[in-house]
Amino acid sequence: MTTSTDITLPRGLLIGGDLVTRSSGGMHDHIYPATGRPNATIPLAGATEIDQAVDAAWTAHREWMTFTPARRRDLLVALADAVHENLPEFAQLNTLDYAVPVSYAATAPLLEEFIRHFAGYVDKPHGSSTPVSGSFDVNLIEREPYGVVGVIAPWNGSLVVSASCVVPALAAGNAVVLKPSELAPFAALRFGELCVRVGLPAGLVNVLPAGAEGGDALVRHPGVRKVHFTGGTDTARTVLRAAATNLTPVVAELGGKSANIVFGDADLDIAAAISGHQGPLMQAGQSCACASRVLVQSSVYDAFLDKFVATVATATIGDPLDPTVSYGPVISESAANRILRDIDDAVTQGAGELVLGGKRIGGALSDGYYIEPTVFTGVDNSSALAQTETFGPVVAVIRFDTEEEAIRIANDTRYGLNAFVHSNDLSRAHRVARTLEAGSVWVNHFSDISPQGPYGGYKQSGFGRTGGLEGLQEFLQVKNIRIAMR
Ligand code: NAD
Repeated sequence: MTTSTDITLPRGLLIGGDLVTRSSGGMHDHIYPATGRPNATIPLAGATEIDQAVDAAWTAHREWMTFTPARRRDLLVALADAVHENLPEFAQLNTLDYAVPVSYAATAPLLEEFIRHFAGYVDKPHGSSTPVSGSFDVNLIEREPYGVVGVIAPWNGSLVVSASCVVPALAAGNAVVLKPSELAPFAALRFGELCVRVGLPAGLVNVLPAGAEGGDALVRHPGVRKVHFTGGTDTARTVLRAAATNLTPVVAELGGKSANIVFGDADLDIAAAISGHQGPLMQAGQSCACASRVLVQSSVYDAFLDKFVATVATATIGDPLDPTVSYGPVISESAANRILRDIDDAVTQGAGELVLGGKRIGGALSDGYYIEPTVFTGVDNSSALAQTETFGPVVAVIRFDTEEEAIRIANDTRYGLNAFVHSNDLSRAHRVARTLEAGSVWVNHFSDISPQGPYGGYKQSGFGRTGGLEGLQEFLQVKNIRIAMR
């Protein structure tokens, strides 16, 4: 298996434009999930470095706001150009981060798109004026940046979070301290280096890989005026408790257990292709948007299952750096063990029938953390398999008869991030989409984040939005200014 490329991995903490290699958070062996062997030893941020980064960010924020909107816009456009020139390198860094197949090179182009989109907001009006009842005073409603924003990224999304959180924060006038997971530090660090290279003020984007300790220090820091957290639901509870220290506002982008509803009138080939990609195959099911509950109408249950299982079974499994490979390992040994335990429990508890996969992959891939794409059919929606976010390549197929039953099952979960509807009857698709308790509903489509579309959760999948005007406004606070007219 290919274990190295000609890329030099960035190792350090990017603070105030400098790559710092000594830190108080200790050293971490970054393991490449495809081989189980170390990629690099990296320093982690502790409270001391978080403090330095927040200071540097405040200095950079003040400088950033002395630039005209046109200059800020042009610098962001230059950043988009630099990302564009480095797309192949970003794809490889993403792979070295968490062994996502290099063929799935979607995230760096997304970063470029978000920068181009939000650069266009820098010189657009953010405020308004209103009359005031009972006077002729001037009343201005202005939207101002928070100053310094802390952004915490999960290991499976450092570039997506850079795109959808860091970029609008900058466009709104903030500086950012970005904390990628220690499991996936490299692409985020390279993004930070590009920010410095194109001439953004040093410290406008600080990148500090860290674990829970550094993340906690960031959330509790009094100089951080807003926290944008993306990660698991349980970690979010801890983050919210820490944010209560300074009453720091938090956006929370959390997990999901998405329903993927296939109606009898759907195009079954397209539905099977989307369901396979969006279910166990994309990032080995390690995506917040994983369509892990596949609800299929009885009239097409067997026909759909044949196509779906055939799609999943033909994934090309192997070396993530090989461009022909579409399916890679899960993130770690402990994640692999957890997922296998969930599969065993589902079998023992009779949650459904295991019709595909279910085992660790051996042979040439045995050193990596590969698990077979796994499908259970005839699953009971109240089972742990259907209610818990596995965050691995495991899907539960559930049978339904009527539209009402599909909606009831789809909404019977504590999560509400994404939902998918497959139907050629657009009246039905629209009707069902309106009743689904999810922040994003995709009709005859896979989950495809765009800078124009607000993305985020209902229920325990979180609150706040990334993307769209809503995503920009997360990084602006409102000030009302009234001027007396004499
Ligand atoms: P995680 O919750 O374990 O960690 C997320 C981040 O929080 C990491 O950077 C981690 O180091 C940090 N962290 C951990 N403890 C912390 C603490 N006490 N204080 C501050 N920060 C702390 O999640 P993960 O395993 O990295 O990612 C998987 C989860 O993320 C899944 O639940 C997935 O659904 C979710 N996710 C959601 C979205 C979305 O947009 N809604 C996108 C990607 C991933």
